[in-house]
Amino acid sequence: MKSEKKAQLRRLLFATNNPGKQREIKRILKGLPLEIVFPGDIGIKLDPEETGGTFQENAFLKAEAFAKKAPGMMVAAEDSGLVVPALGGEPGVRSARYGGTRDNAAHNALLLEKMRGLEGGQRAAYYEAVVVLLDETRRSHVFSGRVNGEIALEPKGSGGFGYDPVFFSAELGRTFGEAPARDKDRLSHRGKALRALKRALVPILSRNAGPEVWP
Ligand code: IMP
Repeated sequence: MKSEKKAQLRRLLFATNNPGKQREIKRILKGLPLEIVFPGDIGIKLDPEETGGTFQENAFLKAEAFAKKAPGMMVAAEDSGLVVPALGGEPGVRSARYGGTRDNAAHNALLLEKMRGLEGGQRAAYYEAVVVLLDETRRSHVFSGRVNGEIALEPKGSGGFGYDPVFFSAELGRTFGEAPARDKDRLSHRGKALRALKRALVPILSRNAGPEVWP
């Protein structure tokens, strides 16, 4: 019976190769009658160039590129980043390649260097995430989330990924790098966008597949 149910589960390709994002996606989308797969799980090797000027443009770009490789399958993609208004919005859409490298420690060091001498409200920052879902008919659905914080004076904690050790949440009283995963998920940009995706998937799944997929 269990395997019958599993066979009926439809698949959603979540188009990210980032292990930090993959962990969060699995946690937050848990409980849907859906098998979530990542590109490596189904042998898709693709790293589309993120040439868009906004998170939404880049999320569309990734979703469309992966959808071409996965006909008939629902595809979701996410683009996100850290925005520091006092630095004119840096690192923004370039968060993953800040300073021309993909090294997280180097990103954080560069950011702290650029923030040197900035105090109080000038250290304000936010994370933003945009998720694009292309359903099986290739209709698009867009979800987004944002969380405010500030750039710490030094990195703290080893949880999360990317800029989390320098992203201080006043609400948690600690950086995202120090916070338990469930606290980050509750407040984070990605948590908000993915929970909106999850709510939207419920009617999409029941409309397309019929009630028999439900446990
Ligand atoms: P992209 O969406 O693949 O362009 O990558 C987003 C980049 O933004 C990541 O590689 C991180 O550097 C940063 N980022 C986005 N979300 C988070 C987060 O939740 N924690 C830490 N860094 C993040």
